[in-house]
Amino acid sequence: MVKLSFMGGTHEVGRNAILLQSNEAKLLLEYGVKVGEPPEFPAHVRAKDLDGIVMAHAHLDHSGGVPMFYLSERKPLFCTSTTADISKILLEDMIKLNNYYLPFEYIELDNMMKQRNDLAYGQEVKLKDINFSLQNAGHIPGSAMVDIDVNGKSILYTSDFNAIETRLCTAARVPKKKYDTVIIESTYATHEHPERKQLEIDFIKAVKDVINEGGKVLIPAFAVGRSQEMFSILHAHGFEGTIVIDGMARAVDRILLDRPEAVKTPAQFEQACMRAQEVRGWRDRRKAISQANVIIAPSGMLQGGTAVFYMEKLGFRPENAIFLVSFQVPGTGGSKLLEQGTFNIAEKDEKVTAKIRHFDFSSHTGATPLQNFIKGLKGKPELYVIHGEADSCDFLAQWAQDECGLKATAPNQGDEFEV
Ligand SMILES: [Zn+2]
Ligand SMILES: [Zn+2]
Repeated sequence: MVKLSFMGGTHEVGRNAILLQSNEAKLLLEYGVKVGEPPEFPAHVRAKDLDGIVMAHAHLDHSGGVPMFYLSERKPLFCTSTTADISKILLEDMIKLNNYYLPFEYIELDNMMKQRNDLAYGQEVKLKDINFSLQNAGHIPGSAMVDIDVNGKSILYTSDFNAIETRLCTAARVPKKKYDTVIIESTYATHEHPERKQLEIDFIKAVKDVINEGGKVLIPAFAVGRSQEMFSILHAHGFEGTIVIDGMARAVDRILLDRPEAVKTPAQFEQACMRAQEVRGWRDRRKAISQANVIIAPSGMLQGGTAVFYMEKLGFRPENAIFLVSFQVPGTGGSKLLEQGTFNIAEKDEKVTAKIRHFDFSSHTGATPLQNFIKGLKGKPELYVIHGEADSCDFLAQWAQDECGLKATAPNQGDEFEV
């Protein structure tokens, strides 16, 4: 018997969680959070019923609820060492910011970290009758797909993945085998990303144009992955201006510098890191306003974070520019900036006079590569589509059925299937 229970991240992005049950064991594949006030968690599962937890990567929509299982139990945690270290930083920050709403504290995070089993890609784990390994997912450093063999069935859980290589990560590496079941993300099932090379060229040109006209570029970016990708792109194109990087990104850089296997080209990454100056406090922040050419600061959607401070200082001069480099969730400061050209300061929407542009640097697979990935699957696996807006999940499941003749479902929260 193999049973899959979809506990969250169905028809939505956020709070991913799948429970895999075999004859002998229960393995939890991620347990994320949908960040908000209050934060939303997946359906409940008892810690004492579990035999282990896998964290495919460090993003909070995949890891944000995991400390909950370490209130009294001590179950093994499986992830890459990069994921463990980065998730520690993100979870600490989450506890600091949302303390009041969370069912756990720093102590549970400590307990969780004591149970970590750091896995290299491809390393086999045997948990009673469940065998699994992690494979590079190409999404962010340390990210993994989970390749599972249980009771004669092969299951692939893609988690978030990128089939296209970026400056920071190699493309996802999918084991060439026949799967009975594939659980796949669908974040961009209905959206095509621009061609990466051209996007980089356009971006670099836009940055240089602003600087040549005496302006500064603010790049709001998430501390994990996107910040590093942006300064790596600038470095790869020989950008010589002053780059300042703010927020937790530097702590993440240090983790990656310690682990050459976590990035695509470690030597280039190290050089790129050295080219970017670190902000250590408010003095550096004020200095950056006058001296930097490019400032990379969180949050990527202009919801809090020091990017808000830079926005106030730089956003109201026409020579400057704000370059958004990730998806902007509707309702966030970044999406409002794109749609209305305004930014909220002291409860008032102010007209931004700096140039505003959006560059679609994604770490998820876009529509066509996602379809190619499904077409490339061997055999006729059953497909479960999760981690996308409702339309995206339904679209991709329907597409796989119509175009590939696969049995495909976009499950709802609470749905259970026997594999
Ligand atoms: Zn992710
Ligand atoms: Zn995700």
